[in-house]
Amino acid sequence: MSKPNSTPLPPATNFIRNIVEADLAAGKHAQRRWAGQPGLAESHAQAPLDPAKIRTRFPPEPNGYLHFGHAKSICLNFGLAKQFGGRCHMRFDDTNPEKEEQEYVDSIVDAVKWLGFDWQDAQENNLYYASNYFPWMLQCAEYLIAAGHAYVDSQSAEEMRANRGTLTEKGKDSPFRNRTVAENQDLFKRMQAGEFADGAHILRAKIDMASPNINLRDPAIYRIRHATHHNTGDKYCVYPMYTFAHPIEDALENITHSICTLEFEDQRPFYDWLLERLAEGGLLQRPLPHQYEFSRLNLTYVVLSKRKLIQLVEEQHVSGWDDPRMPTLVGARRRGYTPEGFKLLMDRVGVSKSDSLIDYSLLEDCMRETMNEMDERRVAVLDPLKLIITNYPEGQFEDCHAPNHPLKPELGERTMPFGRELWIEAEDFQEVPEKGFRRLFPGNMARLRYGYVVTCTGCEKDDNGKITAVLCEYLPDTKSGTPGADSVKVKGNLHWVAVAHAQEAQVRLYDRLFKEASPGAGERDFLEDLNPESCRSITAQLEPSLKDARSEQRFQFERHGYFVADRVDSRPGAPVFNRAVTLKDSWGKSGG
Ligand code: ATP
Ligand code: MG
Repeated sequence: MSKPNSTPLPPATNFIRNIVEADLAAGKHAQRRWAGQPGLAESHAQAPLDPAKIRTRFPPEPNGYLHFGHAKSICLNFGLAKQFGGRCHMRFDDTNPEKEEQEYVDSIVDAVKWLGFDWQDAQENNLYYASNYFPWMLQCAEYLIAAGHAYVDSQSAEEMRANRGTLTEKGKDSPFRNRTVAENQDLFKRMQAGEFADGAHILRAKIDMASPNINLRDPAIYRIRHATHHNTGDKYCVYPMYTFAHPIEDALENITHSICTLEFEDQRPFYDWLLERLAEGGLLQRPLPHQYEFSRLNLTYVVLSKRKLIQLVEEQHVSGWDDPRMPTLVGARRRGYTPEGFKLLMDRVGVSKSDSLIDYSLLEDCMRETMNEMDERRVAVLDPLKLIITNYPEGQFEDCHAPNHPLKPELGERTMPFGRELWIEAEDFQEVPEKGFRRLFPGNMARLRYGYVVTCTGCEKDDNGKITAVLCEYLPDTKSGTPGADSVKVKGNLHWVAVAHAQEAQVRLYDRLFKEASPGAGERDFLEDLNPESCRSITAQLEPSLKDARSEQRFQFERHGYFVADRVDSRPGAPVFNRAVTLKDSWGKSGG
């Protein structure tokens, strides 16, 4: 049993925390002003100093459900803000007109709150939609054109690709690169007015087609897209590119530390170039936000790519986004995983710039640790076999007392009725015991936990030789908690539920969704690696108090693991349980 960890350790340090600490010590961001809402430099200029020491953001695109990888970014961004007296903004990066849906927005809000983070308090409500910044983004684009930093290119997509060059070859200037400012302004106005088809023209930053960094070879910043946007409807037919929109969003929101995953490292020079130009033009407040990159969370036995997760749902390999086997946060919640377990995991995994693959068992360890600490104990018989105590009177019942939590006496105890007929686990009886087996076999004594010591006397079988009941006699002086309890020493200790009082319930035993550590590694289709035995549904016998389990209430079922009352399928008085995770040391292994 692991020790209680009720005094949380301070978050482990990492290179980003070190940077924040150094910036705070140097007063780097102390002079920023904050108008109480995002805006251009002029709106912040007259406002008071920003009360937030730092500002970070979590900026998902609302085009899917959040997965375990996102939890790393959430814990990091919200965690830093909390630790350093800052603010973390919840920002929907909804600048792409096609893919966003309200369903995703709602699920993201729920998931971040479920993890225990918030963006709203008495002073501020930092929930933002990047699409509300479109007018400012257009203003920025127009400024770049006026200052000679952007031009309208009219090459075809193929020509642009061909002229971009390669890692070893410089790119070639577009024949449209030297259009006059007036010409660019006119064309960009007409792009916005809807005069051109998708792809006819594109607005590009004018940087350097010979740059060794391909991202600086005149990146596209605004494209024509005749599409309806979920927020702005048909108001716009030009939309900003992500690499243009994102730095501006950060600056408008006064973000100090813009933290993203490593694949954006090569974009940082453009991030800085763009914000510098716009600050020069007086559009954005200084000091500007700075981008920092860390490595993504990768886990064995799961896939964390939105595309693959969508495929699992759409092709019905799982029951939905919230299937308890899915590595989504809604799935985790339904599975019974804890927000505390995710935070512990992220602390243990740490934040660095080197790619690593984290073993799924580390996640399970973290979940277990938090559940062991939090969850009350209950008894459930998952593979029921009847035990008949032949010397116990029929129709008689008595109370046995079981602590709710062995480490927390303050949580009290519950009573379980004991009687002549009990359910025990089928595996707790062996007619011919294998070597080392210590539970019930003819002639052996074992303790019925919280109850009496019994001596096994045999079993009953049906015509096919299948065991239908185990027979035993109890030793009346050996009840747990009475002076005689220790009078007989036994090695086996088993759990039970009285037949007459048991609550029958559906219990789902989940295993990993994929049977390979790296699903789809090599040439395989990742679907070939699905584990056909990832969900098994059984009918179990539970102790009576579990009848009233509330939706999402979680328990340790002694000897079996941690289980949660399913939030979708449970009904009042009829809970359905999901196994979140097994106990570390199974009964079998520890030789009980
Ligand atoms: P995917 O590649 O699965 O579609 P994404 O990065 O496009 O994910 P976003 O909605 O843009 O998804 O992500 C929001 C934030 O979460 C981003 O800042 C992104 O860097 C971060 N994030 C996404 N996946 C991971 C991961 N595996 N580990 C850490 N952070 C992640
Ligand atoms: Mg993305």
